[in-house]
Amino acid sequence: MDHIHLEDVQIDIRALSEGKKLYRWHYQKSNRLDEHLRIAALMRDQYTCQSCGKNDCRLEVHHITPRRLKGADSILNLITLCSSCHNQINGEEMNHAERFYALIDGKKIDYKAAMHVMQGKKHLRTELKKVALLTLTTGGDTANRRID
Ligand SMILES: [Zn+2]
Repeated sequence: MDHIHLEDVQIDIRALSEGKKLYRWHYQKSNRLDEHLRIAALMRDQYTCQSCGKNDCRLEVHHITPRRLKGADSILNLITLCSSCHNQINGEEMNHAERFYALIDGKKIDYKAAMHVMQGKKHLRTELKKVALLTLTTGGDTANRRID
């Protein structure tokens, strides 16, 4: 073993702000949503459909203003919906937009939960660095790589 990847936080908070580094598929103008943003939207919405309140079902992250209408890849333009509520939108995103923006208005991510502060993390990093090259990573990046 010469290389260790330590996943120590769920999302990279920096990925939510302007000026984040681009991932490969961003250069390719792919339609993919960055996993940091997707997970951040789910966390902010507490893994619950913001339209009907269901949480024991498949959840999807929806662009309130769709990309084809120049809606941004931003946490402020994303909302968690169950598959059923998502399907009901059926191409009429802007008829739902005002209500969806109101539903997420002022909601904040629980950063404490996002950071998953591990006790003894610094000590663990120091010890791991003694035996191998150590790379720190995040849950969001692991998910991005899995999709790659
Ligand atoms: Zn729903």
